[in-house]
Amino acid sequence: MKYVDEFRDGVLARKLAAAIAVEARPSRRYNLMEFCGGHTHAISRYGLKDLLPANINMIHGPGCPVCVLPIGRIDNAIALAARPGIILCTYADTMRVPASGGLSLLKAKARGADIRMVYSSADAIRIAQERLDREVVFFAIGFETTTPPTAVAILRARELGLANFSVFCNHVLTPAAISNILESKEVRELGTLPLDGFIGPAHVSAVIGSQPYEYFAEEYQRPVVIAGFEPLDVMQAILMLVRQLNDGRAEVENEFTRAVTRDGNGKAKALVAEVFELRRSFEWRGLGEVPYSALKIKAAYAAFDAEVRYEITCRSVPDNKACECGAILRGVKQPSDCKVFGTVCTPESPIGSCMVSSEGACAAHYTYGRWKDAAIAVAAPARLKAAIA
Ligand code: SF4
Repeated sequence: MKYVDEFRDGVLARKLAAAIAVEARPSRRYNLMEFCGGHTHAISRYGLKDLLPANINMIHGPGCPVCVLPIGRIDNAIALAARPGIILCTYADTMRVPASGGLSLLKAKARGADIRMVYSSADAIRIAQERLDREVVFFAIGFETTTPPTAVAILRARELGLANFSVFCNHVLTPAAISNILESKEVRELGTLPLDGFIGPAHVSAVIGSQPYEYFAEEYQRPVVIAGFEPLDVMQAILMLVRQLNDGRAEVENEFTRAVTRDGNGKAKALVAEVFELRRSFEWRGLGEVPYSALKIKAAYAAFDAEVRYEITCRSVPDNKACECGAILRGVKQPSDCKVFGTVCTPESPIGSCMVSSEGACAAHYTYGRWKDAAIAVAAPARLKAAIA
């Protein structure tokens, strides 16, 4: 496949691995956070860790939109869907995220709620046009990548005069999450999360550009390399970070030049600015309340704001006590540190959100078997060990 196969070439990957091994100094560790779940997925799927020297430490970040959605917001969506006359539309991954009381949107659907999986916000608009007798709510989640299509849906609904359409907005912002991690106790005080540099998001950066990361490089002296989601993109980004750290540089570099510019997509940013404004604070799973880290619908479009229309109040709900998603999303723990990883918690029966989406760290580790050699395999019940033998 053109423009994909070239970035999955095993010979080139081994050449990049050899260059990293030569340039990474044995006297130090390189602690690199891949912010995006897309990168986590690529690292697990293509076994990139196995190609890297032991002193390159890859740390998973919170950049998985489904994973960071707090339980309270899923509860809100389930409560909305339970109201008579409502059709709730959402992306497929959101359906299986565990909510309070052992529920999920999928289970609520099985109990009779009219919840529909859609591929895009345009599908939700179409459903609203077809079912003028019903109220259609689009449960919108995601980072800056999925925000412009939600803005388009609201503008389209206004243009069409669709009074039965609204959006439950849960869009979050990448730079605020990076700031939160860099300001965390684990990074600044305890030193339990050593962070030397970031692999910056691919799709998000295609929208917002590389410019927003310049602040982190300058203020926190951490290099950022924006990278695509293919294995060679990730390997190249690691090499670029190793070079910056060796040189004592902290700059924003762009490996993903085939899609990302410094200024990003002006049209998409204008659409978002037209419809949304910053929330003062928003709860993230794992990170807690993060100031100015999410968007809400502007008052001018309040007619399409489900939070206003249905007077939704959001409450904070703690995660399952056994689940380490919070620590994993902060980069403090690995999936195999969780006692129920691969035993009680699997993609078929997830306990936490990180096991739901393919971009979640737990799902990526489980699906691509990066955990089989880890301590969990020793601790697993005999039948599980037999299954993975
Ligand atoms: S394995 Fe499951 S329970 Fe453990 S941290 Fe991951 S999602 Fe949470």
